Amino acid sequence: MKTAKKNYIFIVDHIPANTPYNRRPGLPLVPEYITVHSTGNPGSTARQERAWLINPANKRTASWHICIDEREAVEAIPLGEVAWHAGDGGNGPGNRKSIAIEICESGDRVKTLENAAELVAELLRRLNLGTERLRRHWDWSRKACPRILMADNWAGWEKFKLEVEKRLNNPESTSGSTNLTGTAKPKNPANLTNTGSKPAVRETLPQIQHRVEGTLDGRPLKFEAYLINNTTYVPLRPLIEALGLQLKWMEGKYHIVTAASNQNK
Ligand SMILES: [Zn+2]
Repeated sequence: MKTAKKNYIFIVDHIPANTPYNRRPGLPLVPEYITVHSTGNPGSTARQERAWLINPANKRTASWHICIDEREAVEAIPLGEVAWHAGDGGNGPGNRKSIAIEICESGDRVKTLENAAELVAELLRRLNLGTERLRRHWDWSRKACPRILMADNWAGWEKFKLEVEKRLNNPESTSGSTNLTGTAKPKNPANLTNTGSKPAVRETLPQIQHRVEGTLDGRPLKFEAYLINNTTYVPLRPLIEALGLQLKWMEGKYHIVTAASNQNK
């Protein structure tokens, strides 16, 4: 069976933790909802919206997780951290429990909305949630947003939710990532790390990411974990090494060995 390719490029380009006006507060987010916005700017692309988040002229405490246009999606805040977008206050469920998707108002509207529906379906799939967990900015604080879907008493919003539902029910036709659904494991864990200094352009999917930090017998323990279908995955090697052990690949499987016994070999 032919599998359709994703129609947009996914770019991870996080704003710095010290971005002014507390736009990236670093508070942990366990997403229970996805909130849909539109940018309110008919001229800006996803990259331009990302640039605005760190523009000195921007004086607002407002941010988002992923902005998507006709060609690209840009992730500006990790999906395991809070962004300020819902207008329901510092402890409101919109801000504290939802991922913010900004849909660009520039470019080819049909294509942009298709991309957004695909992205939102993929996120719901990853979070093991259904379309009943979709929210408009309007739902949290009665802001007229996403305004591009407001006409005719939100007819566009109802259509958008149907498009998401279609993709959730039939992922093969819209996405190459079906190996990540159900009980399947990620096919290539190497995709989960970004080792380069440039923003990572991922072939596949956004990650729900959490930082894990602590100490173990005085040793600092720090790595990133990923939430996929309600299961937290951690990279094996940093965890094993933090425990003072080593990981060796031998004869087709991983062996956990102590650092001491390894030295004797
Ligand atoms: Zn909004």
